[in-house]
Amino acid sequence: MIHFVGAGPGAPDLITLRGADLLAKADCVIYAGSLVNPALLGLTKPDCAIYNSAELTLEQVLDLMKAQEAQDHMTVRLHTGDPCLYGAVREQMDALDAAGLSYESTPGVSSFCGAAAALDAEYTLPGVSQSVIITRMAGRTPVPESENLAALAAHGATMVIFLSAGMLPQVQAALLEGAYTPDTPAALVYKATWPEEKVVRCTVGTLADCGRQNGISRTALVLVGDFLGNRYDRSRLYDPSFTTGYRKGAES
Ligand code: SAH
Repeated sequence: MIHFVGAGPGAPDLITLRGADLLAKADCVIYAGSLVNPALLGLTKPDCAIYNSAELTLEQVLDLMKAQEAQDHMTVRLHTGDPCLYGAVREQMDALDAAGLSYESTPGVSSFCGAAAALDAEYTLPGVSQSVIITRMAGRTPVPESENLAALAAHGATMVIFLSAGMLPQVQAALLEGAYTPDTPAALVYKATWPEEKVVRCTVGTLADCGRQNGISRTALVLVGDFLGNRYDRSRLYDPSFTTGYRKGAES
């Protein structure tokens, strides 16, 4: 059996219990070496075969998986954060389907959750934003034209921008074409939950400068929106006057 497992954002104790258990049982681990914390490999058996997929093509990864399956071995394909975001898992799954090999998925803590924790932030503040746009700037990997950053920025919602820390001047310009102003709060979170984590709070207007001054150009998330500001409405759910299925509110 092949298991696609989310490694979490970096800190080795942020993998799920299920993910850690699968790593401990694996005969083979293929890990995304550009971002997965190698400390997680310490959870494997001494004779576990370990491959870094950063050095491999899709075809080579599939060949490794097929060879392990032929020996009735258990493989963990370890992706950073949660595999469902920018994980390139679908192409692996489709190829395994075509080869008649079965697999299961185990989720992980995405880096966008790790970044919120680093900031002690809530992305969905009442009265501020109830939507989180997860996206990236077009680079060598294109983004559909209808999803270009300036178009998405028109919503003024909470934004989490992956894979774009190397293009901060372009990110800043696109955000300013949308609903954000130079004063809209923003943040850069580098290597969230790793020992070398860096949190830089700034504004949309100072984003590129702050990235340069702090030497952040990769392995970082750009976070944008008034959820990083000081104004919001209190929740209805915990308002004394609000009746829910679990609690009767006070008469108004
Ligand atoms: N599946 C992963 C994302 C992989 S794409 C997830 O769920 O987090 C790789 C990008 O994710 C990086 O370029 C960076 O933008 C972001 N990233 C991954 N780990 C990160 C971390 N610990 N801190 C900040 N950003 C991170």
